[in-house]
Amino acid sequence: MAEPVELPSRLAILPFRNKVLLPGAIIRIRCTSSSSVKLVEQELWQREEKGLIGVLPVRDSEAAAVGSLLSPGMGSDSGERGNKAPNDALGDSQKQDTKNQQEFIHWHNRGVAARALHLSRGVEKPSGRVTYIVVLEGLCRFSVQELSSRGTYHVARISRLDMTKAELEQAEQDPDIISLSRQFKATAMELISVLEQKQKTVGRTKVLLETVPVHRLADIFVASFEISFEEQLSMLDSVDLKVRLSKATELVDRHLQSIRVAEKITQKVEGQLSKSQKEFLLRQQMRAIKEELGDNDDDEDDIAALERKMQSAGMPPNIWKHAQRELRRLRKMQPQQPGYSSSRVYLELLADLPWQKVTEEAELDLRAAKESLDRDHYGLTKVKQRIIEYLAVRKLKPDARGPILCFVGPPGVGKTSLASSIATALNRKFIRISLGGVKDEADIRGHRRTYIGSMPGRLIDGLKRVAVSNPVMLLDEIDKTGSDVRGDPASALLEVLDPEQNKTFNDHYLNVPFDLSKVTFIATANRVQPIPPPLLDRMEVIELPGYTPEEKLKIAMKHLIPRVLDQHGLSSEFLQIPEAMVKLIIQRYTREAGVRNLERNLASLARSAAVKVAAEQESTVQIGKDVQPMTSLLDTRLADGAEVEMEVIPMDVNGQEISNTFANSSVLVVDEAMLEKVLGPPRFDDKETAERVASPGVSVGLVWTTFGGEVQFVEATTMVGKGDLHLTGQLGDVIKESAQIALTWVRARAADLNLSAASDVNLLESRDIHIHFPAGAVPKDGPSAGVTLVTSLVSLFSRRKVRPDTAMTGEMTLRGLVLPVGGIKDKVLAAHRYGIKRVILPERNLKDLAEVPSAILAGMEILLVKRIEDVLEQAFEGGCPWRQRAKL
Ligand code: ADP
Repeated sequence: MAEPVELPSRLAILPFRNKVLLPGAIIRIRCTSSSSVKLVEQELWQREEKGLIGVLPVRDSEAAAVGSLLSPGMGSDSGERGNKAPNDALGDSQKQDTKNQQEFIHWHNRGVAARALHLSRGVEKPSGRVTYIVVLEGLCRFSVQELSSRGTYHVARISRLDMTKAELEQAEQDPDIISLSRQFKATAMELISVLEQKQKTVGRTKVLLETVPVHRLADIFVASFEISFEEQLSMLDSVDLKVRLSKATELVDRHLQSIRVAEKITQKVEGQLSKSQKEFLLRQQMRAIKEELGDNDDDEDDIAALERKMQSAGMPPNIWKHAQRELRRLRKMQPQQPGYSSSRVYLELLADLPWQKVTEEAELDLRAAKESLDRDHYGLTKVKQRIIEYLAVRKLKPDARGPILCFVGPPGVGKTSLASSIATALNRKFIRISLGGVKDEADIRGHRRTYIGSMPGRLIDGLKRVAVSNPVMLLDEIDKTGSDVRGDPASALLEVLDPEQNKTFNDHYLNVPFDLSKVTFIATANRVQPIPPPLLDRMEVIELPGYTPEEKLKIAMKHLIPRVLDQHGLSSEFLQIPEAMVKLIIQRYTREAGVRNLERNLASLARSAAVKVAAEQESTVQIGKDVQPMTSLLDTRLADGAEVEMEVIPMDVNGQEISNTFANSSVLVVDEAMLEKVLGPPRFDDKETAERVASPGVSVGLVWTTFGGEVQFVEATTMVGKGDLHLTGQLGDVIKESAQIALTWVRARAADLNLSAASDVNLLESRDIHIHFPAGAVPKDGPSAGVTLVTSLVSLFSRRKVRPDTAMTGEMTLRGLVLPVGGIKDKVLAAHRYGIKRVILPERNLKDLAEVPSAILAGMEILLVKRIEDVLEQAFEGGCPWRQRAKL
């Protein structure tokens, strides 16, 4: 053990972050920062005889308290470093300096001189950076008189604090010190005995008590405990021997007590302990230790917290009783027991559900609601009118059980955003529950709690998230629910939407009724047909057909562009998308009924512009001249011990608002070149139809899908076989039957008109026919492909190409009559999107053309037909092929 050493008047200083090295203690530090590496190199490594350095505790700026701590701070760019002296030596001007400084290092004004016991040097690869590992032994306390810098590290003028040998010898005669020493040694001895007994080893620690002087022992013992930084500091500050001894005795005693408490608890519970309960035991120990230390004031019992939460949830009395029963069960369980966490999660749900919480409904202002609908949505006059009527009824009779609105239309036509506008008008919260692909009744109604991993259904979960019992709840894609062996979600939805039943909606997981009657339901669907009739019966369908290109253009200019710009932090000062470019996006990059892809493409342009604008702005920022020196200063101020780390706090430039610096960026106007660069080459053009019908056997149909109207090609081919019909392209039963009807009709006619002989193909025998509906991954069904199928077969057998500018739709009977079909507006719009100029429609669909905007009709030829022969007459250049043949 080191005897009192001679200290030089100056020592190189290694800062020790939030830790203290006490005399007699040994620490291992890894030095990596340039300043600490330099210090070790110059003061320890390059000296033959190992020198001494000072280890000074420093404190994080946030942990720092004002007082005896030093705040040397950063220098300005003049190169002055944080070379401020301890508080008493801090000059006035220097004090002034520190005021403006951004960051502080809080040096303690007392430290410990240390000697290196071991040094090892390493070189990091591939950077070649040198690092040191230093093992230091604390020797004696000193106080800092003045702190200055030498090269990259600090040096302090110091004065010794610990007593010299002679002073010590004299102090040891003091009766107070003698009695304090005795007391300390007794406590220390007791601790050692307890520890030795616990570890069942006979250690050599007792020998220490006999050989090491008591003032050193105090430091050594305290250094070996895990105590707070504050306590370590106060031990370091205990220069007076009496103070030091009594402090050390107190700390050793506390340590001893906590070991005893832990032991007591271990003994108590050891008997009943199983392995899986180990964690529980540790928790109990922690609680008992805290209790013993009087430390548990803020130790919130979380079950009590849960109970408080449940009390304030406002459950109806019978449910509250049920919840209390469950809570009592939970109290009796141990956290490791199976069922504990599921019971807890269940109670949390009960506590979180909005049993009574509602958003106050403000007086409904119909004019404001209309304005807001008009502001957010272009066109849709009829739909908006219907919504206003709906709101008016609610205003007159708030608890009226009006019908449930169901918006039906292709994606991206504004169904969700209209529903959200209704919520805004009613001043209610809005929540969307997606029902797409829900096949399991449990998704709506929850799983019983007996199942592992059971959960509440989507409705109850949604209510928990929205946290009020009267939100506007959007049941999205209600047509996409299906039923299978796992039950029928539609029947659960029936209960939800039935005002008589939904007062006591029973979620299997929740297992107590929940009142859904305050929820305002709105539904959306892509198509009406798949919605089960009883469900449809509860709803009022409002159709939103797709938009025409002109409507899309207006929506884009008025609504989408301003919103997209805003979402990307841009404005028209930065990015302009001219009308002509929006038109090009609509024609070449999107082929949809709604505006979702259009919005996506506009967002891509905005993103790309945002990158440009941001890059421009960065280059206009002048980097303040303080920034560079600041980082290097920070680098040098702190030595990097194992525990000493630094953070560089980013500064703004000269205190200036960064965004103001960028005000004058040039406007970016989107042109065709930018479109191609950002969105890629055009995805659609008007030539597609011509290319695809370039060979006989292909015809162009119009169908109605969940995405609105679509152009559907039909391809037919023939090969040697047994007269079979092959169909591919994921077809439903109805479409398969249509194909059979079409083939039968053509075969019958072919015999009549000798078509087969003329074309060297015997349609009746030895030929298989294959009909394919491209886009094979998309399921298709419906009767409206009848006329298209016949046209394709006639084209195949007559080896005549179908006109590429003509598309058709219509159901056909076996006798050749053409029957009307649905979705005319969408189909005509789809044809228009594809650049098709002629559309063949069943005559009885004439009335539906009223829905099609006249601008679209003006550019198209609509051919109304009664019989399939009329279709064929129009579908081929020069009229029906066999009629021509018959003429020959
Ligand atoms: P849906 O629910 O029908 O699939 P959304 O409501 O999600 O469609 O609409 C897609 C986007 O198009 C939204 O940003 C919406 O605001 C916008 N939009 C759709 N129709 C209109 C319209 N008529 N006026 C303004 N924006 C519209």
